[in-house]
Amino acid sequence: MKANKVIVVGAGIGGIATAIRLAVKGFDVEVHEKNEVAGGKMYLIEKDGFRFDAGPSLFTQPDNVEELFSLAGEDIRSYFNYMAVPIACRYFFENGKQLNAYTDQQAFAAEMEHKVGEPKENIVRYLQDAEQVYEKVGTIFLNHSLHLTSTWLHRRVMDAMRTVKLPYLFNTLDGFNRSRLQTPEAVQVFNRFATYNGSNPFSAPGMLSLIPHLEQNQGTFYPHGGLISIPRALVALAEKKGVRFVLNSHVQQIVSDKSKATGIIANGGFIPAAHVISNVDAYYTYKNLLLDETGASKILRSERSSSALIFYWGIKRNFPELHLHNIFFSQSYRDEFYCLFHQKKFHDDPTIYVNISSKMEAGQAPEGKENWFVMVNAPAMVGADWERETAVLRKRVISKLNRMLKADVENDIEVEEVLTPEGIQARTDSYLGSLYGTSSNSKWAAFLRHANFTSRIKGLYFTGGSVHPGGGIPLCLKSAGIVSDLIGNPV
Ligand SMILES: Cc1cc2nc3c(=O)[nH]c(=O)nc-3n(C[C@H](O)[C@H](O)[C@H](O)COP(=O)(O)OP(=O)(O)OC[C@H]3O[C@@H](n4cnc5c(N)ncnc54)[C@H](O)[C@@H]3O)c2cc1C
Repeated sequence: MKANKVIVVGAGIGGIATAIRLAVKGFDVEVHEKNEVAGGKMYLIEKDGFRFDAGPSLFTQPDNVEELFSLAGEDIRSYFNYMAVPIACRYFFENGKQLNAYTDQQAFAAEMEHKVGEPKENIVRYLQDAEQVYEKVGTIFLNHSLHLTSTWLHRRVMDAMRTVKLPYLFNTLDGFNRSRLQTPEAVQVFNRFATYNGSNPFSAPGMLSLIPHLEQNQGTFYPHGGLISIPRALVALAEKKGVRFVLNSHVQQIVSDKSKATGIIANGGFIPAAHVISNVDAYYTYKNLLLDETGASKILRSERSSSALIFYWGIKRNFPELHLHNIFFSQSYRDEFYCLFHQKKFHDDPTIYVNISSKMEAGQAPEGKENWFVMVNAPAMVGADWERETAVLRKRVISKLNRMLKADVENDIEVEEVLTPEGIQARTDSYLGSLYGTSSNSKWAAFLRHANFTSRIKGLYFTGGSVHPGGGIPLCLKSAGIVSDLIGNPV
């Protein structure tokens, strides 16, 4: 067996990016993926001329993708193109108010003041603070392992510590937002950022107030061809650098000998490797691939992130009042999150996210029609009667959209597909269908999330949304950077 042979289990975005980084460093990399296509939660549904990105719809921090191409010495424009979207989201409130979240800070602040009466300076101050916390704290802890002494000895850690004031840790995001903002609409908009990693704004710490920096200050982007273009471009780059993808390869076990990973068992045969990287949900990795019940139960000490129920609707006409990203808020966020996280059920009045990529380019839907990705946060849960849950939720969603858009949405649907938490678990092995691994519903969540390595099995590493630094495309791509640094400098 070659000393530089690496096996990556799972071709999610984190696994593909890790493979690229290691191939560029000269490793011999093979990726084993159980599905017939790479991309994990990022895949495409096509039906009757409508294209739907099945998983992620929001693209932020494209520099994480750019970096992979520059490391590989390839021109990104030959593989992947994207554009900035000046409106991050269009928000609709039950009281009839609406606003555009412009990615220009002054324009967003002016819109908030004009549409909901939130003083401009509150928004500007909030976003400036978010930038400072991100630059001082986020950049160090999101790009390095939290489980290495060298991270804590970094010269910038003292500066980061000075920036983390008590309200960031000991106040909930909702409490933090209410102390900074005056209007219920502004609080709801900024509470929403807890859902970016599947958390509850009424439990997660004020530290999550740095997330709006990514969307509102750094901006939102649309990849040409939709989000599916990201894994497709990265797979092409990986293959160019010599990575081999073995699709339809269901890994049954990660094998170790004397506390050292030695390879995997896939399709009944042993495949040796010097390093094994799991891109599969950490709980699943321990339970099913390492057969380590204790390790698996330790992961469940942290609450799972939320899941989602998604309707993919081909709509037979245009809705000019909608943009690329649209949110229809619930009347009471507090009640809604109580239902999701404490009662494990949908609220009667759910917040609805509608993404329409045909607003950005032709070809995403037939002419004169729109491709709606309609998502409602769901409890991370399998085993429910999802057929019944889906039917009930569908009625609630349509009735809310009809009311808020003054439309007859049911009559406009000509194509329909549905994805439930159970479907997410079945496709990706993400335990209970959670979108982002574990939630950030406690102030210690960042420290409880699984590390990118384990000191118990040398040569075994972890990348992707269920491990440090967390879920979502940007953080999965950062986890790839951390793992590739660790393998360059073994612990
Ligand atoms: C509906 C939805 C909406 C989302 N919206 C956004 C968004 O707008 N923006 C954003 O940034 N993020 C979003 N996310 C989160 C984002 O998709 C994930 O954080 C990210 O894609 C996870 O990537 P990953 O590297 O952890 O791998 P995953 O995508 O979890 O992939 C893991 C891979 O491992 C494979 N695998 C599992 N078991 C085995 C095995 N035994 N053998 C071989 N292969 C195996 C799976 O088939 C899968 O391909 C969303 C997720 C979902 C589901």
